[in-house]
Amino acid sequence: MSIRKVYLIQPGRDGKLFGRGTMAPYTLMRLGSLAPDEIPVQIIDEDLEAVPFAEIGPNDLVGITAKTLQIDRTRWLTEQLHARGATVVVGGVHATLAPDEVLAWADAVAVGEAYRTWPQMIEDFDRGELKRSYVDEEWTNLDDLKPITDRVLQQVDENNRYWTPYMEITRGCPRNCTFCTAIRVSGRVMRLRPVDAVVEEIERRKLKRFFLTDDNFGLNFRLNPDYMEKLFKALRKLPLHGWTVQAEQLTADHPDLLKLAREAHMDKIFIGFETVNPGNRKEIGGKAKGNLERYHRSINRVHDAGIGVVGLFVFGFDGDTTDVFQSTYDFIKRSNLDGVSVTILTPFVGTPQRRDMLQEGRILTHVPWSLYDTSHVTYTPGQMTPEELSRGYDWITRKLYSWPSILRRGWSSLSRQPVRAWPRKAVASFSTDLGYRIAYAHRDWAPTQNGQGHIVSGASRDGFMHVLQTG
Ligand code: SF4
Repeated sequence: MSIRKVYLIQPGRDGKLFGRGTMAPYTLMRLGSLAPDEIPVQIIDEDLEAVPFAEIGPNDLVGITAKTLQIDRTRWLTEQLHARGATVVVGGVHATLAPDEVLAWADAVAVGEAYRTWPQMIEDFDRGELKRSYVDEEWTNLDDLKPITDRVLQQVDENNRYWTPYMEITRGCPRNCTFCTAIRVSGRVMRLRPVDAVVEEIERRKLKRFFLTDDNFGLNFRLNPDYMEKLFKALRKLPLHGWTVQAEQLTADHPDLLKLAREAHMDKIFIGFETVNPGNRKEIGGKAKGNLERYHRSINRVHDAGIGVVGLFVFGFDGDTTDVFQSTYDFIKRSNLDGVSVTILTPFVGTPQRRDMLQEGRILTHVPWSLYDTSHVTYTPGQMTPEELSRGYDWITRKLYSWPSILRRGWSSLSRQPVRAWPRKAVASFSTDLGYRIAYAHRDWAPTQNGQGHIVSGASRDGFMHVLQTG
C-alpha cells in the first residue's frame, strides 16, 4: 500500500478557552517533524477543530496520542476511522503502560517515546507491512532530537492559536513516586538538551512565553547546577516575556541559580508540595513532606528572587483523613502562594500504586478511564470513604477557586511586581488560578459514549463550562 497522507490527532477534552487552545500538541509537533518531506502531514487538535472524517481513507495512516483520560475518546475515534478504512496507531502514556488493552481495538501500538519507531511505522505502512507493536526501548539521546520543521510550525501556528506553547529542555526524573506515570514513560535518568539547541528552537519558534513540560526541571538545580547556569545565561539574552516550570521545593535552596533563572525570564515555578501531612512520605519518593515551616520558607525564598510560586497538592494518600482538607486550606490561606492546584490521587495504569491497590481490591472498577482526570475518585482511600474524599475535594476546590480567593492571590502576586511591569504581568497573575477553576469544573463532568461528556451539576451553573465548550 502506498501512503497518501499522515494524520496526527490529539483527542479533545477542554475545548477552547476564550477562543484559543490551552494545550499545544507538542508531542505531535515533534512526531510530525519526523515524517519524510514528501508525505503530507496534518496535525489535528480536537479542542480546536473537528477530525475531517470524510477526507480520511484507506491509504492514510492516523497516529493518535492519548493520556489515560483520553483513551475512551481515542477508541471511539478509532472506530470512526476504521469505518472509513484508515489505519490507526495509538501511542502516548496509556498505550505505553497498557499496550495489550489498546491493541484489542487499534491496528498498532507505539510503546515508549516513539521518536525512533514512528518513522519506521510510516515506512512499514507505506510498504503494506505495518506491525502490531512498536517498542521504543531506549531513551532517546536528546542531543539528536530532530528540530520541529517549518511546515509543522506554520500549520500549528502555536503563538496565535494557543495561550501558552509548550517547550522541553530536560526529560526524566530519578525519584520514584509510587503514583508517577512520567518516570515510567520518560525514564529515571535525567536527560538534558544541548543549550544551543534550546536557544535555537526558542528563536525559530518565535516563543515569547512557554510552559516547560519537563517532569522535574527543578531537580537539576541540585543535579546539574553547571548546566543550569549555562542555560540561564543563554536564555537571559532572549526577548522572552516569561516561562514556567515544574519543580521541587529544593530549588529554594539555590538562591544564586534562582536569581539567574529570574534574569533568564523565568517567572513562575510550580512546586509539588503534594501534602501537608507528614504521614505520607512513603508514597512520594522519600521527599521531605509535611514540614509547613519549610514550605513557607521555600515560598518566601523563591519570591525573594522575584519568581512566583504555584503550589501543587494531592489528596487521598493513605495517611490522609478527612482533616486533610481543612489543614491544607489553612496552610494555603496563610501562605503567599501565587496560585494553587489541588488534585485527587489517581492510580494510573503501570504504577506500583495501582498494582498494590488492585491486589487490595481498592480500585473502583466501574469508573471509566475518562474520569482518570485527577478530579474524580477512582479508588477506596485508606482512611476515608470514596464519598468523603470526593466531598472534601469538592469543598476545597470551591473555596480555593472562588472569585475572592482568585482575586486575593492574583492581586498579591501582581503587587510583588514593580508597577511598570503590571500591564505585562496582569493576565499571568490571575490566569493560572482561572485555568484551574475551569479545569476543575470537570469534577461535574460525566462521560458519554463517544468518550467526551456533559456537565451534570455544580460548576456548570456558573457559566464557566459554557466558556469552555463554546470558546
Ligand atoms: S518527583 Fe515528580 S516526576 Fe519525579 S517521580 Fe515524583 S512525581 Fe514523578
